[in-house]
Amino acid sequence: MENSKADLITAFIGLGSNLENPAEQIKSARTAITQIPGVRELAFSSLYHSPPMGPQDQPDYVNAVMCVATDLPPIDLLRRLQHIENNHGRVRKAERWGARTLDLDVLIYDDQIIEMPDLIVPHPGLAERAFVLYPLFEIAPQLTVPGKGHIVDLLAQCPMNGLKRLD
Ligand code: ADP
Ligand code: MG
Repeated sequence: MENSKADLITAFIGLGSNLENPAEQIKSARTAITQIPGVRELAFSSLYHSPPMGPQDQPDYVNAVMCVATDLPPIDLLRRLQHIENNHGRVRKAERWGARTLDLDVLIYDDQIIEMPDLIVPHPGLAERAFVLYPLFEIAPQLTVPGKGHIVDLLAQCPMNGLKRLD
């Protein structure tokens, strides 16, 4: 049974893809996320284009950030997102930061700091990643990232690193 409205929390999800028509992957992931029971879209950023992190012998990424209202516990939200990744043909490889059809990360979950074996929130790379911070700022310019600080201060410390906003 779904909780009452009072139990809804706000979470931010990072989306990324650099294989098999990345922009379409992001759009169809957005649709799939809105179809998760107990998840409602509140905002969706523009799409951004960014050079790969880590191994350079892979295509550029398309990234976006989505804000949702949800009554799912954080680990359930992660499992649902991983299920969507798998449905988008994601093959998990040993290589860190390797090419992928779809990457969905729980960036922020309410004001919580979570350190579970499978889930660290806020996402550990968030403050250093232009492709997360700029779209996040676009949809939540007043945000304070739990344990890390105000989004404006985080942005001031983070170079664009080749990030481009599309459309
Ligand atoms: P990355 O996104 O860093 O390239 P993956 O998507 O392959 O890496 O995720 C690797 C692992 O990261 C997953 O098994 C997941 O359990 C873990 N993880 C920890 N914190 C998070 C988070 N906030 N969002 C998504 N995955 C996370
Ligand atoms: Mg991931």
